[in-house]
Amino acid sequence: MQLSIQSLSKTYANKVHALKDVSINIQQGMFGLLGPNGAGKSSIMRTIATLQEPDSGSIFFDDINVLKEKDTVRRMLGYLPQEFGVYPKITAEQMLDHIAQLKGIQSAGERKDVIAALLHRVNLYNDRKKNLGTYSGGMKQRFGIAQALMGNPKLIIVDEPTAGLDPAERNRFYNLLSEMGENTIVILSTHIVEDVRTLCSEFAIICKGMLLMRGKPDEVIKGMDGTIYTKTISKSEIQDYRSKYKVISAQLKGGQLAIRVFSEAFPGDGFTPTAPILEDVYFNAIASQMDVIAL
Ligand code: ADP
Repeated sequence: MQLSIQSLSKTYANKVHALKDVSINIQQGMFGLLGPNGAGKSSIMRTIATLQEPDSGSIFFDDINVLKEKDTVRRMLGYLPQEFGVYPKITAEQMLDHIAQLKGIQSAGERKDVIAALLHRVNLYNDRKKNLGTYSGGMKQRFGIAQALMGNPKLIIVDEPTAGLDPAERNRFYNLLSEMGENTIVILSTHIVEDVRTLCSEFAIICKGMLLMRGKPDEVIKGMDGTIYTKTISKSEIQDYRSKYKVISAQLKGGQLAIRVFSEAFPGDGFTPTAPILEDVYFNAIASQMDVIAL
């Protein structure tokens, strides 16, 4: 099973060049598409989900031409969009029944069984009679997964699913997502590095519409061994350090800044060598593309 994206490019009517010759091969399992806001993640996801056309490029899901055989793809697709609106005045059960009918499950008895199984799976069975408008953010996202899983999709796309969830909700959602990777391709877009570290066997970093790197989290972290150094400095020194070193992240700690620096050689100057983490890989990759690094 493979999703093969080749040379995808897209410029919107407002002249934003959102995708620049993006090529990625994605295998079975959970694949993370990591990048800052505006990187082009949703543009890729919507294109794979057959909701918009690229200017050029191709996408194949095994031998299915995704850009041409849209109906075939839609039958195999589960999609949780970034802005997942729910109808507030109907219950989860009613909404899923509607979706099941749209997916072509004609027997009422079969729909009932499928819906009960899905609601149990996302742990919403006891809340099935509540109106969707009363659901918390985490419950809405879990409902979103239930609707995306209807009809046993082979390709599942979830766009920024943990944005806005509190830590407990996010954990529950992680557990749910991590069960989904078997016999399917799950593509998860996120700007949260922790999402990728927790869930994904492979990932790619995109920024400003370009693919910057791809790999397995453990391997890319290992690849940065011996290049990350930390130091605590005062806030006023940051510009000075930026001009001298490649500062890839800076975190406020008790009024001071803990900075992490990328360097091929030991910089001395009071720096301490430290083990790389996935954030280092990410910030180092996007630092060259971004003018400023968020503190
Ligand atoms: P991400 O999902 O990584 O935040 P998007 O794919 O949503 O990124 O957006 C990439 C760029 O394309 C951004 O600059 C965004 O403003 C722009 N963009 C996205 N959708 C549209 C659209 N429908 N029309 C015009 N510009 C868009």
